[in-house]
Amino acid sequence: MASIISRWIDGGREHKKEIDMETIAAIETYGGVVTEQDPRWRAIVMRDKSADGTFYYSVRTTGVYCLPSCASRLANPKNVSFHPTREAAERAGFRPCKRCKPDRNDLQPATDVIRFAVSQSSYGPLLVGQSRKGVCAMLFGSDRDTLLHDLQERFPGVMLVDGDDKVKALAARVVAYVESPGDSPDVPLDMRGTEFQRKVWQALREIPAGSTASYTDVAKCIGLPKAARAVAQACAANNLAVLIPCHRVLRSDGALSGYRWGVERKRALLDRES
Ligand SMILES: [Zn+2]
Repeated sequence: MASIISRWIDGGREHKKEIDMETIAAIETYGGVVTEQDPRWRAIVMRDKSADGTFYYSVRTTGVYCLPSCASRLANPKNVSFHPTREAAERAGFRPCKRCKPDRNDLQPATDVIRFAVSQSSYGPLLVGQSRKGVCAMLFGSDRDTLLHDLQERFPGVMLVDGDDKVKALAARVVAYVESPGDSPDVPLDMRGTEFQRKVWQALREIPAGSTASYTDVAKCIGLPKAARAVAQACAANNLAVLIPCHRVLRSDGALSGYRWGVERKRALLDRES
């Protein structure tokens, strides 16, 4: 079926989605009703997976309730109601859709909003993401679209919001630190990982700029000298490039080993720090 790319701007961020002609025809046919003004309706039209778990919708004519991303034919918005929880939808007399199965238990509602800013650095574009707890993402990437995609993959179900001036100022501080490493910037970090990963990341933050350590050194430092391989895995799972300096960890023979954001970038970061 033919499709077009729909674009819209929300909170300063450009969104792009492919929508099919049937959906567009439905919007044109049913346009102008109140439901259509509701941002939740747009999530349904766009079959937005990131909205799953944040609300449910029911269709009066079929008696079922669905997830926003349900692949069924788009309902007439005149027949649609929104429900904050699946229990609320069931209390209102609706039964779960057999196609999207909104009553399954593995759905997680979207958790904190992440505000982000994309900046330029001599290592290429970088993205800084901030949750309510602190900086939760610092990613390198080739361009804004790739960075946003990476951010969404790492934090599924999270709502991404284009950052205001505060977030941009924070990103500028991170860029300044990346460009001239010294004392690490005094910003709270929201380190999301297992207890083991957080232990490793904390140990990495103790390695000063200009120094390096081996995976085995880090494993010894956290009291698990045989866990070098798991340390390497924790380095690979790091969402906070440079702020958690996993680039300062080398193989025991001094070889660079891998880097989530490219070995060339690792070499360039280390060169500048030394
Ligand atoms: Zn459904």
